[in-house]
Amino acid sequence: QSQEVSQAHIDYHVALQALQDHGTRMVCTGKMHTDRICRFDYLCYCSEAEEFVFFHSNSSVMLPNLGSRRFQPALLDLSSVEDHNTQYFNFLELPAAALKFMPKPVFVPDVTLILNRFNPDNLMHVFHDDLIPAFYTMMQYSDLDDEARLVFMEGWGEGPHFDLYRLLSSKQPLLKEQLKNFGKLMCFTKSYVGLSKMTTWYQYGFVQPQGPKANMLVSGNEIRQFARVLMDKMNITRVEEKDGGSSEDEKGKRDEYIVLFSRSTTRLILNEAELIMALAQEFQMRVVTVSLEEQSFPSTVQVISGASMLISMHGAQLITSLFLPRGAVVVELFPFAVNPEQYTPYKTLATLPGMDLHYVSWRNTKEENTITHPDKPWDQGGIIHLEKEEQERILASKDVPRHLCCRNPEWLFRIYQDTLVDIPSFLEVLKEGMKTKPSVRRSKPASTVHPGRVREPQCQTSVQTTNEAKLTVSWQIPWNLKYLKVRELKYEVWIQEQGENTYMPYILPQQNYTFSENIKPFTTYLVWVRCIFNKNLLGPFADVLMCRT
Ligand code: UDP
Repeated sequence: QSQEVSQAHIDYHVALQALQDHGTRMVCTGKMHTDRICRFDYLCYCSEAEEFVFFHSNSSVMLPNLGSRRFQPALLDLSSVEDHNTQYFNFLELPAAALKFMPKPVFVPDVTLILNRFNPDNLMHVFHDDLIPAFYTMMQYSDLDDEARLVFMEGWGEGPHFDLYRLLSSKQPLLKEQLKNFGKLMCFTKSYVGLSKMTTWYQYGFVQPQGPKANMLVSGNEIRQFARVLMDKMNITRVEEKDGGSSEDEKGKRDEYIVLFSRSTTRLILNEAELIMALAQEFQMRVVTVSLEEQSFPSTVQVISGASMLISMHGAQLITSLFLPRGAVVVELFPFAVNPEQYTPYKTLATLPGMDLHYVSWRNTKEENTITHPDKPWDQGGIIHLEKEEQERILASKDVPRHLCCRNPEWLFRIYQDTLVDIPSFLEVLKEGMKTKPSVRRSKPASTVHPGRVREPQCQTSVQTTNEAKLTVSWQIPWNLKYLKVRELKYEVWIQEQGENTYMPYILPQQNYTFSENIKPFTTYLVWVRCIFNKNLLGPFADVLMCRT
């Protein structure tokens, strides 16, 4: 033990010397503040000023060196929510010489990931904005391993889902509030600041109405890998695994069941019991209810991970559909006057390629079946604080118009209604929706392997008459094809006359073809060839061929 202390003592002097000599070093990825993650040696934090500090010395590094553009608007986003003006990160600068006049720094030896949680009270935000991005940011930088320290700078308390954040590493995450306990000046030996946005699929409507992100980069595969790791950490045994290599027959024998996710304080289903009876009868399956209020999160996930169908009111608890087995059905219920097409975080998740979930939505269209709460506080949908005219307009409206986040009173009024689910219309929608349910078997991972470039593309030409010519194009199969079973193999050839801006596309089943229509003598053609697997898996074009007739 004493050795440990003296070791730490030596390290302290080494660290302090390094900070004084070298100052802070920063190297970042990303051209814009919205896609930037920075890695620091000796980034410091002054708890009195509540500011990060960059110490300049002769050998400090700041890349990118943005000058004052660093404040236009910031160096980077601390949360995975893009360009939100409450989530910016920056640091103050000081010369390393100033350290002489400052409190003695405390060094944090752990490799640290510094970020903002966006809304740790809400389970959907916890997963979408924090857990999945942090998980993949840690995977991106290999020194952010199981021993990494997470620091949450948004300034909130632990929140109701802190146990989930604890699963990301073996070390207890630190809150901004707790940094004070480390003294006035703390320095992170090695740290990363910011979160990868690669996995997020939804934008919440700060600048345009909410919806799927414009350029989604994540597939169901990455979501499911994350889910599997999290389930392992929660000690959940998945039903799929328990059954071993479960074939379709065994699956039929297995006890299939439906999960109803119940909310107990707001946005209620008023006739849950009736709904459960109807579902049990219709599908001849057991119906299990779960709720965030009445059981542990791991036990909820355990139940959901073996379900054939998950039914829930629109709401954050539906993020748990990422733990459903492949082939399961997600049924999302919407209160009166709320258009399911406009609020699609869970639909987008369920329909990510490779997620292999089947999504169905139902909407209450009967006004007599809704219970409104005009007297509640504004953030639970109350409207009595509004002017009489505005209240009347909202009450008369049968559809919430498109709106921005987050305090639109008409939206809040409608989304916090309780609903008496009309059983016949619900079963009808469900049966109709199930008709298009594909079998999981069809989407094997191998079917997403793309073709390589076709090899050795060649052209040969001949002139027949003064206005007739032939162009023969041939090529070899892509290199990876010999290792694959491909259902359907096609090639695409584009032929463009040099100088023209249009081209003729052809789809061909074989590896060569002689074109004679529209081929002119003494003309140069540009020819591109690529391979297509199974109708829609496009490969890259081979280098363009210049073919002179
Ligand atoms: N919540 C819950 N039961 C309720 C109401 C809310 O478990 O009756 C949870 C909900 O899943 C979310 C958090 O409390 O994690 C905040 O709910 P809110 O209604 O504000 O958000 P929403 O569900 O609409 O995203």
